[in-house]
Amino acid sequence: MSGLHIPIGGPDGSRTDHAENLLAPNPSAMTLDGTNTWVIGGQDEVVVVDPGPGDEGHLLRVRDHLGGRRVREILLTHGHFDHSGGARRFAELVEAPVRALDPRHRLGEEGLADGDVVTVAGLEIHVYGTPGHSFDSLCFWLPADRAMLTGDTVLGRGTTIIAGDGGLADYLRSLDRLRAVAESLEARALLPGHGPVLPDPIGALDGYIAHRRERLDQIRQAREQGARTPREIVKIVYANVDRSLWPAAELSVRAQLDYLERL
Ligand SMILES: [Zn+2]
Repeated sequence: MSGLHIPIGGPDGSRTDHAENLLAPNPSAMTLDGTNTWVIGGQDEVVVVDPGPGDEGHLLRVRDHLGGRRVREILLTHGHFDHSGGARRFAELVEAPVRALDPRHRLGEEGLADGDVVTVAGLEIHVYGTPGHSFDSLCFWLPADRAMLTGDTVLGRGTTIIAGDGGLADYLRSLDRLRAVAESLEARALLPGHGPVLPDPIGALDGYIAHRRERLDQIRQAREQGARTPREIVKIVYANVDRSLWPAAELSVRAQLDYLERL
């Protein structure tokens, strides 16, 4: 039996049997403790998921941490800067290609899309297309550890936002799909792009799905109370959320209004 070690005191160094997190030093309201850079593989070779922002100290730390292990590929869960900004520089440091759904973030010949299987050190990594947080969001299933890397589609704490390049209808479908996959493959952990490992995948996904439905209901109610603009709706629905998050909340509200109008 392989054991899942749940980290104490934050995500840096958290791991499953074949995946290990090195936390980038970019904490913020949006990125929680910072971006999780996941190293997956064995003794000779690894893939690195999300090198993080263009932070030279972090990139060098990840490289040094690998010791002699070769980086076969760099994978991106999506193109947002806090995940991809350091990818080119890291690719230079370790001489590996960058694979991503969005061609603008690739370095090398190969893309990355739903249904792809990446092999490293005898391990398989199965790629799931999960648009919503962004149009190019991917999740990576690691069958050996029964763990799903979720990027920003599911975070270790709080909830994710729907960015301008994403969409709520897609996002809800992606959550439903992840839940179905987590159930049928008996997932034991979600490894998010920010925040700690989630040891109860179904519970976490159910929480996300319920939260989205609740928010949609709250937005419907705010509109019934006369709120018209996204800003007015944010003031009501996100009244007890830190104001620094209101611009992000407004993006989320816009996505939800879009969704409601298309129903
Ligand atoms: Zn992020």
